[in-house]
Amino acid sequence: MEKETVRVHRNDGTEVTITVADHAGFCFGVGRALDKTEEAAQRFSGSGRKVYTCGSLIHNKLVTDELLEKGVGTIHKPEEAEPGSVVIVRAHGEPARFYDAATQHSLEIIDATCPFVQKVQRLAGEAIKEGHDVVIVGDPKHPEVIGINGWAEDKAYVIQTPEQAETVTGKELVIVSQTTIRKELFDEVVGKLEKNNTILKINNTICSATSERQNACEELAKKSDLMVVIGGKESSNTKKLWEISKKYCENTYFVENLDDLPLKEVAKCCKIGVAAGASTPERIIKEVIAAMSEAITKDLEMVEEMNEMEAMMDEIEKSLRLPGRGEIVTGEIVHVTNDYVVVNLGCKKDGVIPKDEMALEQEGLLTELFKEGDEIQAKVIKTDDGDGNILLSKKKLQVNEHWDEINAALDDKEVVNVKIVKEVKGGVIATYKEVSGFIPMSQLSDHFVEKADEFIGKVLPVKVSRVDQKRNKAVFSHKAFLAEEKAKKIAEIWDKLSVGDVVEGVVMRFTDYGAFVDIGGLDGLLHISEISWGKLKHPQEALAIGDKINVKILSMNAEKGKISLGLKQNMPEPWSVIDEKYEVGQVISGKVVQIKDYGAFVELEPGLDGLVHISEVAYKRVTNIADEISVGQEVSAKILEIDKDRKRISLSIKETLEAPVAEAAEEAADEE
Ligand code: SF4
Repeated sequence: MEKETVRVHRNDGTEVTITVADHAGFCFGVGRALDKTEEAAQRFSGSGRKVYTCGSLIHNKLVTDELLEKGVGTIHKPEEAEPGSVVIVRAHGEPARFYDAATQHSLEIIDATCPFVQKVQRLAGEAIKEGHDVVIVGDPKHPEVIGINGWAEDKAYVIQTPEQAETVTGKELVIVSQTTIRKELFDEVVGKLEKNNTILKINNTICSATSERQNACEELAKKSDLMVVIGGKESSNTKKLWEISKKYCENTYFVENLDDLPLKEVAKCCKIGVAAGASTPERIIKEVIAAMSEAITKDLEMVEEMNEMEAMMDEIEKSLRLPGRGEIVTGEIVHVTNDYVVVNLGCKKDGVIPKDEMALEQEGLLTELFKEGDEIQAKVIKTDDGDGNILLSKKKLQVNEHWDEINAALDDKEVVNVKIVKEVKGGVIATYKEVSGFIPMSQLSDHFVEKADEFIGKVLPVKVSRVDQKRNKAVFSHKAFLAEEKAKKIAEIWDKLSVGDVVEGVVMRFTDYGAFVDIGGLDGLLHISEISWGKLKHPQEALAIGDKINVKILSMNAEKGKISLGLKQNMPEPWSVIDEKYEVGQVISGKVVQIKDYGAFVELEPGLDGLVHISEVAYKRVTNIADEISVGQEVSAKILEIDKDRKRISLSIKETLEAPVAEAAEEAADEE
């Protein structure tokens, strides 16, 4: 489990071992992505075509700085690159939509997604296409997880903790994992999911590179006095290594570069272990070992003396050097008035922060909010304010922080609240703390906005669509926020509904073939044939816009997002209850709905028509039925027969009329 051991000796002759854990440094996927990127940088150098990685290729600043020097920039979405550029998909992978956007934007894609990650994307995508629910065990903010979920049409449940797993119930699940999570976490989450769900397939897609590296780190930590874990502060797999190591060796240090090395501690220990994350180049591991070896071989006191001397030199250098414009400085408050604060910056000039550069969060006088001796940070605006002081601003410092927050909201697709301050051509200006941005008129709402007056002064939640900090530009969209909220609401409603449920809805609009009914934020189609048991020519015959009705869910098509509704299902089908309402000999009233040569159809109620044969229309001989009755006319008729098998009712109008005299006499004679 060990890659190599370096032996060094102190001045007193004692031996110190520095052991590097097996599998420390680049994994297969990261090494492959870096090779592809360097090869692309070389191939396109001088071609006029720019090369970008989408997001940092790896979480290691030294490596990304080196790539930048080789001409490889970083973008966060395809639209940020000039058409014709080359974009490298890093080992974490990207969602399917990224490839479409990049192609649409005329970018050449070099796909360096690690084949192991591609496998997880494929498993999740296939499961969703087969109609299953998918769980990704991992960090929802991790780019690899965002990518995998993208291939699963963003429908997967992303579970990061066993507690979250308890919220998923009654599903048929296919489970995959982020490649870099810990096996214990995966097992725990799967255990919880198994209790309340049917598990169709468990795919432990944790990359063996990760578990091997973690096991080697654990083994080494158990037998080391001090552990150094090397990697970028943003690297999740390095953080996990640090956690594992810390569990077994309290004396564990997270080191991103040589400045982070705890050399005094190193010089005291005998067994030093070194582990490194998947994004740490071999070169950095070697540099760390060399620096530690040097500290051990030098006399400890000498090291301390040198450190003290270096600190003193730093202080002297700092006092001679004046901070430059734009620099962020920290100093001690030495004087406070209600108009300004004077700050000792440890150099030959003091700094001054005028009241209007303070950006105070609380109301109050400067003398109440600050006192001598407080530490304060600010940004240098001018190296000389005319009185021999350095002009500082706390407000401008906060602007940087606010831009960071805006950038983070863009990266993490989070919502920020902005205040609409004024209308400008094509939209409005909105402020987020000290940052001003633009909201195009089309992005102010989810409906057409002609004038922005009603929005001025309001605080709106928005999504950040674009940031160009160099040019002080940010673009926001309230519409995108509303769309996301609507999608969430629809997803919630969709989850709650099942075929067969009866829900309340409001009739929103008509078409010739039915009515659209809002069932709590989601529109369902009530087809004309499902409104009534009778025949309708237009839904308006039975409904009006705004009517509140109870509808039954007849079908749900999740793929197309369509719901079919029924209204007539809330009433019994007329033939099923005919015995309860009608009998032979009963005289009914109804409307003539159709006239044929052989008789007229009379509607007893919607969905229940009876036939008055031509011979039953009148006592006299009728040759053209339309001469006697017309469509739409209300008539009384006697029920002659009910044939439930053939669903037919025979009616007679004539039987409800008084018989003519001659016929009446005949009838009387017959009776005698
Ligand atoms: S950790 Fe494994 S899955 Fe991730 S990039 Fe490296 S080799 Fe690929």
